[in-house]
Amino acid sequence: MPLREDAVLSTMQDVPLTVTRLLVHGVQVHGRSQIITWTGEDEPQRRSFAEAGTRAVQLAGALRDKLGVRGDDRVATLMWNNAEHVEAYFAIPAMGAVLHTLNLRLPADQLAWIVNHAADKVIIVNGSLIPLLAPLLSKLPTVEHIVVSGPGDRTPLAGGTARVHEYEDLIAGRPTTYDWPEIDELRAAAMCYTSGTTGDPKGVVYSHRSIYLHSMQLNMTESMGLTDQDVSLVVVPQFHVNAWGLPHAAFMTGINMLMPDRFLQPAPLAEMIERVRPTHAAAVPTIWQGLLAELTARPREVSSLAQVTIGGAACPPSLMEAFDALGMRVCHAWGMTETSPLGTVARPPAHAVGTDEEFAYRLTQGRFPAGVEARLTGPGGERLPWDGESAGELEVRGPWIAGAYYNGPDAEPLRPADKFSEDGWLKTGDVGIISPEGFLTLTDRAKDVIKSGGEWISSVELENALMAHPDVAEAAVVAVPDEKWGERPLATVVLREGANSDFQALRAFLTEEGHIARWQLPERWTVIESVPKTSVGKFDKKVLRRRYAEGTLDVTQL
Ligand code: ADP
Repeated sequence: MPLREDAVLSTMQDVPLTVTRLLVHGVQVHGRSQIITWTGEDEPQRRSFAEAGTRAVQLAGALRDKLGVRGDDRVATLMWNNAEHVEAYFAIPAMGAVLHTLNLRLPADQLAWIVNHAADKVIIVNGSLIPLLAPLLSKLPTVEHIVVSGPGDRTPLAGGTARVHEYEDLIAGRPTTYDWPEIDELRAAAMCYTSGTTGDPKGVVYSHRSIYLHSMQLNMTESMGLTDQDVSLVVVPQFHVNAWGLPHAAFMTGINMLMPDRFLQPAPLAEMIERVRPTHAAAVPTIWQGLLAELTARPREVSSLAQVTIGGAACPPSLMEAFDALGMRVCHAWGMTETSPLGTVARPPAHAVGTDEEFAYRLTQGRFPAGVEARLTGPGGERLPWDGESAGELEVRGPWIAGAYYNGPDAEPLRPADKFSEDGWLKTGDVGIISPEGFLTLTDRAKDVIKSGGEWISSVELENALMAHPDVAEAAVVAVPDEKWGERPLATVVLREGANSDFQALRAFLTEEGHIARWQLPERWTVIESVPKTSVGKFDKKVLRRRYAEGTLDVTQL
């Protein structure tokens, strides 16, 4: 609406919200905070924000002057979580280019598809990941330069058309100032592709503004609320939704970061917690299940870790209880690549703290912050109330929520109807309920819900109930076709060492301890070695559905 001529004008300055600002601030005000990278050797590498900031300046200069990066050129990273990756996080957007984080766990053909779709010009790669990149190079025509950082044999990169550079040589001796350009806050800063569980991966492009606002939200006490007195163990990969925004938030408030690099197995994680004593950590449930088993087998002094953020998949109650017992308080959060990712955080409301209700609140996906508007939509498109009972698809909108997908430099962004409503809200594909106080409880992903005879069975609820059994290490439940009911649940369980499979006993446990209604109990059961995982460590249920369809699972029918 155009302003009336006599309208009162704001007297505030119009200053863009940019990643550049985060970089400059982090260096100036929090220069002594550290990025501590695990090296697998006696001492981790320690680099202050001031040093990393200077190196980011040098990197930006080298990318511009030596590699010819201009405008919105895409500079990709194929890297673990480490100090150099943080330098790239700031150098690339601050110079006006677009940081493209590549998921190193994707199958090779998908990785190539994504690089080509984004038309990446440069790839910064960790030496240890060269075996992954080298075989793809001939299929990546847009890539002109490869910059290698850290240990690893370089020879497989020789002979290609892309020029190969050493990260350290590239930045050595370069000027330590850069005349950062003025950047429109709505310009692209970084991009990340969804893992493509359905169809081709989709590119989400974050703006400077969305990253800045998301960082502020992450730093609020009701979200992670960390300060420069904290050390955050950033297990969630920097290629998985910008490590949930932690590096950006860190430069805003000086949070020290402990970066595991390639040492993501439970034993080194336990060791780095014991030695560096982080106060906070963030990762998907799978990582925590592994760490828990390790700590149970080989107890360690991990009492520094007061707060653990779990998200990316539902946190089983048994996991939360086990961590609580170890003195690590779990905080559950929900989000997606499309939501930057912070959507909800489960901090119990004041009236529940210290009461019997508190645990139940902590198990929900959490409460929406002011920056995330939410609504539930029923199967017929009707709006459902926040009554804690009506289940529908969650739709969200806000300044750090995607409104479209990237579709190449000259093409209009994509707004597929199954992902965006006509009025521009993001359809999350998650099904759940919202309480009158704004707490979200997800019952399933729309594609994982089991549709049995016109009723819905939550696979997540069955999994959580199963994982509470002492013999069960992990459990995944998927829908399989059933002549009578349309679909029925198939329970696939991973047993703990030394446990035997007694499906009747597990079934009884589900009703007695799990309070699962009889009609929801699985009649098909199987033991598997491990639950297949996606590239970001979540249960890959489509693999289980396929194995069932192919008849390669040894299923017992009760
Ligand atoms: P992908 O879609 O490839 O799994 P994302 O990391 O974007 O990649 O995943 C987002 C999805 O992860 C959400 O839509 C939701 O289904 C699931 N998810 C994230 N956090 C939680 C949580 N705390 N509880 C349950 N599901 C979650």
